[in-house]
Amino acid sequence: MRVVSKIDEVRSIIEDAKKNNLLIGFVPTMGFLHKGHLSLVAESKKHTQFQVMSIFVNKIQFNNMNDYNTYPRDLENDFDLAEKNGVDLIFLPDDDEMYGNHLTTVHLDRLTDNLCGACRPGHFDGVFTVVSKLFNIIQPHVAVFGQKDIQQAVSIQKMVYDLNFPVKIIMGPIIREDSGLAMSSRNKHLSREKREDALVIYKGLKRAEQLLLNGERDSKIIINEIEKIILKGRPDKIDYISAVRFSDLSFLDTIGEKAVIAVAAFFGDTRLIDNMVIEYERGRIKCVF
Ligand code: AMP
Repeated sequence: MRVVSKIDEVRSIIEDAKKNNLLIGFVPTMGFLHKGHLSLVAESKKHTQFQVMSIFVNKIQFNNMNDYNTYPRDLENDFDLAEKNGVDLIFLPDDDEMYGNHLTTVHLDRLTDNLCGACRPGHFDGVFTVVSKLFNIIQPHVAVFGQKDIQQAVSIQKMVYDLNFPVKIIMGPIIREDSGLAMSSRNKHLSREKREDALVIYKGLKRAEQLLLNGERDSKIIINEIEKIILKGRPDKIDYISAVRFSDLSFLDTIGEKAVIAVAAFFGDTRLIDNMVIEYERGRIKCVF
């Protein structure tokens, strides 16, 4: 596995891989790797033969500088995990390499109006800008994003379509702790007590699944039930509990098409997000966590 920090170097390594007829898979991350990230590499390996991972804590997507400054970092462990999981190349740029003198921002309308887009001003502009740059630098055939950040995955699919990036986007499932807590680098900040409290998010989503399987379709009723359960964990703040269409992430009053129920809540200073996708299999509802 090679670790490089310069754009020219990445380009030349990837050019060589392409000359050898290898398809390039790409997993962008902010590091502090866990099984969620590694599952995306495993997914990428099903489709491609040369795995690139970026590790870059992208300052411009943070709307809270304390969150940026305290974002967990452990490069030695990241390199170890990446190598053991078949990553061929890590791109590890610094701020200057990515943004020295930069004046361009990539913005996407509508799909970022709700959910995290509404609560974190500027966040998605930062995400789309960095992902566009990374796509242009790496020029992968396939890029894999997690369902965990569903608004990001759905919006990037749209950005790729709108801007004609020649890359196939794949969404990988949410990897969870045995307890049900969605894995996240930020979980490191949770005290033992808050980690326990935060399980109400998964419990709330499971309750929503139960209601849906019993025939409930009214978003308001489902959201109220989730809220009741989440409040039992004494969250410090609930940013949102929302039901939206999968297609464009607009709010949905009645669940009658492919949809997402998404949650964002603070436990202590740690903001956690989670969701489930509601699909239909032979006319029957199926919730994908
Ligand atoms: P991050 O390093 O948090 O920016 O995440 C990098 C990628 O990993 C994004 O596509 C995330 O959606 C994905 N990811 C984060 N947590 C998980 C998880 N628990 N399961 C699957 N993918 C995840």
